Amino acid sequence: MFFMVAIANAQKAENIIIITTDGFRWQEVFKGMDSSIANDPQYNQDDSSYIFQNYWSNDEKERRKKLMPFLWSVIESKGQIYGNRGYDNKVNNANPYKFSYPGYSEIMTGFADTSINSNSFPPNPNVTVLEFFNQQPRLKGKVAAFGAWEAFDRILNEKRSGIPVMSSFDAAGGKNPNANERLINAMNKDSYRPFGEGECLDVFTHYAALEHLKTKKPRVLYIAYGETDEWAHGGKYRSYLDAARQVDAWIKKIWEFVQSDPQYKNKTALFITTDHGRGDLIKKEWRDHGKDVVDAYQIWFAAMGTGIPAKGEIKDNMQLFQDQFAQTIAKLIGITYKAKHPVSPEIKSVLGK
Ligand SMILES: [Zn+2]
Repeated sequence: MFFMVAIANAQKAENIIIITTDGFRWQEVFKGMDSSIANDPQYNQDDSSYIFQNYWSNDEKERRKKLMPFLWSVIESKGQIYGNRGYDNKVNNANPYKFSYPGYSEIMTGFADTSINSNSFPPNPNVTVLEFFNQQPRLKGKVAAFGAWEAFDRILNEKRSGIPVMSSFDAAGGKNPNANERLINAMNKDSYRPFGEGECLDVFTHYAALEHLKTKKPRVLYIAYGETDEWAHGGKYRSYLDAARQVDAWIKKIWEFVQSDPQYKNKTALFITTDHGRGDLIKKEWRDHGKDVVDAYQIWFAAMGTGIPAKGEIKDNMQLFQDQFAQTIAKLIGITYKAKHPVSPEIKSVLGK
């Protein structure tokens, strides 16, 4: 019996998939849609009936499940979900800025580097956990990243790290795109660009990443969706909720593929989070984040898969920080991330300790 427990604890994932959806609030993750925002004609895109039909229930647990059905079924039963401040389960940005580049850098470096204070910051001087993975002999050339936002080229220091970072309107498939990649690239190129040249629609990032997963079989894959943040800034609550529900549906598709493929099945960990929160105390601030939006440091994360015991929604009083994610991600695949900058320790409860 003791021996069996020891074996189970020692189990590590061989592959990891990291997923972020930009600026998606813990409030919607744990409580579902907010009826006061949905009822406000400034935010409901003249279609509150659509929002209520799709996402409303008087029961909070049913309501959040309507928004994120995969999170609140499979991940809840097989994984762990952190950040419900209703139980004082707190996950915070350690960086003081509460916007994207500092947040993604904190996730990927395990370090709140206060010199990183702008979204137009040059290529990351710090070596991210993804770059560190790509330096390990068993993972070299098996790390890839797909992000809707162009800044991921700099956040992950594509040039120095050698990791392919397919961001915004970059073509997928490198020099030899397959037929699916050629179609994805053509559609992305010709698509509607509501967010300008710096960010594509999530659908293109998703399908390019899924194609890479299926055909190139990376050991480490990072997918960064962006629409949740963009629609919130635009004050479009219906689109914000739709984008989140779509991300949840895509996570389901990714997991179904993982569990159907011999390289990945029962050998893969999934880590899902966000770069920053948004406002809440002052209602109109749901659109915003950044230094002056008081509650925008409040975030959440979820994890599921090999090496992650099923604990469901975590209801313990805890204070966790985003700068703990990088080492947690590394430990999930049995690696200790080392860097020249300080790296915060892993979250032991994710790993079952
Ligand atoms: Zn934003």
